[in-house]
Amino acid sequence: MNSNFFRNIFNKAKEAGGREFLQAENGEIYTYHDLLEVTGRYASFLEEIGVCPGDRVAVQVDKSPEAYFLYLAVMRMGGGFLPLNTAYKKSEIEYFLSDAEPVVFICSEKNKFEYIDLISTHVKLGAITLEFNGTGELCENSKKYSSSHEVCQKELHDVAIIMYTSGTTGQPKGAMLTHQNIVTNAEALTKLWEFTEKDVLLHALPIFHAHGLFISTHCVLLSKSKILFLSKFDKDTVINCLPSCTAMMGVPTFYTRLMSSTSFNHDLVKNMRLFVSGSAPLLEETSREFTERTGHTILERYGMTESAIISSNPYHGDRKYGSVGKAIEGVEVKIVDDFGKALEFDEVGHVQIRGPAIMKGYWKKPEKTKEEFTEDNWFKTGDLGKKDSEEYLYIVGRHKDLVITGGFNVYPKEVELIIDSMPGVKESAVIGLSHADFGEAVTAIVVLEERCNVEAEEVISFCRNELASYKVPKQVIVYTTLPRNAMGKVVKAKLREELSTLYY
Ligand code: AMP
Repeated sequence: MNSNFFRNIFNKAKEAGGREFLQAENGEIYTYHDLLEVTGRYASFLEEIGVCPGDRVAVQVDKSPEAYFLYLAVMRMGGGFLPLNTAYKKSEIEYFLSDAEPVVFICSEKNKFEYIDLISTHVKLGAITLEFNGTGELCENSKKYSSSHEVCQKELHDVAIIMYTSGTTGQPKGAMLTHQNIVTNAEALTKLWEFTEKDVLLHALPIFHAHGLFISTHCVLLSKSKILFLSKFDKDTVINCLPSCTAMMGVPTFYTRLMSSTSFNHDLVKNMRLFVSGSAPLLEETSREFTERTGHTILERYGMTESAIISSNPYHGDRKYGSVGKAIEGVEVKIVDDFGKALEFDEVGHVQIRGPAIMKGYWKKPEKTKEEFTEDNWFKTGDLGKKDSEEYLYIVGRHKDLVITGGFNVYPKEVELIIDSMPGVKESAVIGLSHADFGEAVTAIVVLEERCNVEAEEVISFCRNELASYKVPKQVIVYTTLPRNAMGKVVKAKLREELSTLYY
């Protein structure tokens, strides 16, 4: 049996034939038949220039239908796809190229020129260009190749994608995702979120991250439905497109931006059946306001590069505000204390996960891999959370963000929720900063609503009424925005760095 996930896609695409698969922002349509043609040509071309099954193909290109087909083509020919954030600069690219040792690097003409020394040192077959509008050497040179490339034979444990973690808390590590990981997640989500041929998914996520690259798109492929492929999230474009869509997957900032528009209302989303949010915490307030505005409850789910989706609120049934739902099929979730002992409901501890959807390990980092898995194969997510009596999971924060002040543990989320509930406060981030007396001092960074004036002292006294004294921020600093990465996650490491001398 061939366990290459592209085999599943191939079969679905054959069945779907001339049905529409992808509509680009400029209106251009690609059918499932086109998907087979284009991926076949790219796969034949890559093989012809010397890319072999198992080789890594590094890709740093703008989002386009061609860039997405390239991902599928690499899978088809049995390679390992290695997507890189388009925001990475030369020194970061050097790290990825030297660490991942790709045989070929697909990038823009501009970057091919700028990185010429890196490419000649680290990339055996050199670079091939692909531009934001789909032009370049990949498309030009693959034109003359056959589209009938065989789907390469793969085992379940073979690596399909090497996806580097976003590195908000250290150097990025390459998570090796196998065909088994991918198929487990894709089948579970397509079923859970009830994707059918009738769906049209609005896709405005970047495709260098798991969420946009495969969590969302595989649901479309397995259900033979259609994807509206926008080059990026632009509030007005999304608002124009929503009436012709049935589902959308996004990060929390998509939803806050949509709601900042007065034209975003009930009528626009009449055809929608599903709004999914993930990759970063969704504020309860955003979620409630969204329900009031649209009549839809955003379905929040939780995942990470190392395992794609871990838990999801139900499609039918109770979607609990503030919770990331229950473990999905193929994933077990438990909460343990510092010594690995399982905790009771409502007790906060480390979130550990196990199952066929969890990555094989970190690329070229066997020691790190060993550290992150327990002996009985539970993966330590690095997140802190709790489960309620109905098995719904709540994420409290990253373990590395936990603040230890005067020997007491403070979970930033708990303090953030209190601060966020204050009138005039838009959002907040709570961090620990070095402090001579306390070890770490709880510190809040607060963003205010437009035209609101809330003094630091008011935030502190509000917290005093609601929280044990050791959890009350020692200082409150007002920012105009919080630093976020491409997936909308607050980069607390940056805040810690910027404010490192606050108490000295
Ligand atoms: P990444 O590997 O970039 O996808 O980041 C994974 C991390 O994002 C997780 O370990 C969580 O800390 C965080 N995360 C993802 N989804 C959620 C969510 N729905 N709520 C809270 N945190 C989330």
